Amino acid sequence: MDAGQPGAQQAARLDAADPLAARRELFVLDDPDRPGDAVYLDGNSLGALPRAVPDRVADVIAREWGRLRIRSWTESGWWEAPERIGDRIAPLVGAAPGQIVVGDSTSVNVFKALVGAVRMADEDPGGTGRDEILVDAATFPTDGYLAHSAARLTGRTVRALPPGDLADAVSERTAAVLLNHVDYRTGELHDLPGTTAAAHAAGAYLVADLCHSAGALPVGLDEHGVDFAVGCTYKYLNGGPGAPAYVYLRAAHQGRFDSPLPGWHSHRDPFGMTPDFAPAADARRGRVGTPDLLSMLALEAALTVWDGVAIADVRAKSLALSDFFLRRVEHYVPDGRVTSLTPREHARRGSQVALACPDAEAVMAGLIARGVVGDFRRPGVLRFGFTPLYTSFADVERAARTLAEVLADHGGAGSAG
Ligand SMILES: *Cc1c(COP(=O)(O)O)cnc(C)c1O
Repeated sequence: MDAGQPGAQQAARLDAADPLAARRELFVLDDPDRPGDAVYLDGNSLGALPRAVPDRVADVIAREWGRLRIRSWTESGWWEAPERIGDRIAPLVGAAPGQIVVGDSTSVNVFKALVGAVRMADEDPGGTGRDEILVDAATFPTDGYLAHSAARLTGRTVRALPPGDLADAVSERTAAVLLNHVDYRTGELHDLPGTTAAAHAAGAYLVADLCHSAGALPVGLDEHGVDFAVGCTYKYLNGGPGAPAYVYLRAAHQGRFDSPLPGWHSHRDPFGMTPDFAPAADARRGRVGTPDLLSMLALEAALTVWDGVAIADVRAKSLALSDFFLRRVEHYVPDGRVTSLTPREHARRGSQVALACPDAEAVMAGLIARGVVGDFRRPGVLRFGFTPLYTSFADVERAARTLAEVLADHGGAGSAG
């Protein structure tokens, strides 16, 4: 019914020219043309299910666990899974192999990385005089909570600053800086290379949280000299609800990384079962204890959707999707009814668009009722995530048009008290 409209035509042209368009077939998604089916723009919160996952999980359960049982630790490669899967994530974040281990949650990995970074500062000349940890004041709350705990444990204080101010604030008092690569609420992309360089110039270590950038844009961990990084795998990496997170330990630091959670899986010889701890020489230092293998192996199957994908193409499409969305929202929605919190400049934009809207909660409920699934963040933010492997331009067009319809139903901007 909309085929004659310019927006739908533009979307069709963009979809026809999209080199990633065929990747959508690798996911379980609704059919956009079937009544009642939904457009999914919440992959920045929970990625869609890759088709390869269910059979693989069934095989892990029935064969590896059910029949091979304990033999699977060696014969099915369970023991090495954290490093093997880390090496699959590595190219997506610009890391050479051998620096990423998968396991635990992002929250736990923030703690490990931050305490580890401060302990490294302690070992540097004059490092114990570095009495503060700088954190991004707009951070996802869990990172901030854990930074405070890491600070208490290491005898430091936390100084929270707007992320754009961290590079100027870092000084000889700073032990570590915790930066979110992309702000989870506004979708703003922060200056990871610049902040890392500033931290290093002042002798501090940088810990990056990649939850909203890995799988959406180039990260360049090795290239930019990032010391430590963490991220989750259930957002743009489609690993499934509660899928394990990962931690990146820069190769040059692995011999010095002193984990605050040195479990037996991070021991040099786990089956030596010795009372004294001796850390593994490599990235296994980032491990703690027995990993959640069902989730981890589901993640491994999910990562096959990235085979042969160039992250530069992902970034190009991500920006094209968010540009198109912003243009179509401007076209359909009366001026001033919503305001984008997401920067216009590509260099400062992640892979979502956040719209400030006074009655956002009711508007998002209306959108979901009409088959456009984004999410809502208090107090008044509508979030729309663009996941380039499976979001189409037709999805974006429908979302913008439906948003305008829902806003019209909910009256003018002034009506929201
Ligand atoms: C999603 C997200 C988390 C989630 O942490 P969990 O431990 O997986 O609950 C942490 N930090 C940021 C920046 C996030 O976006």
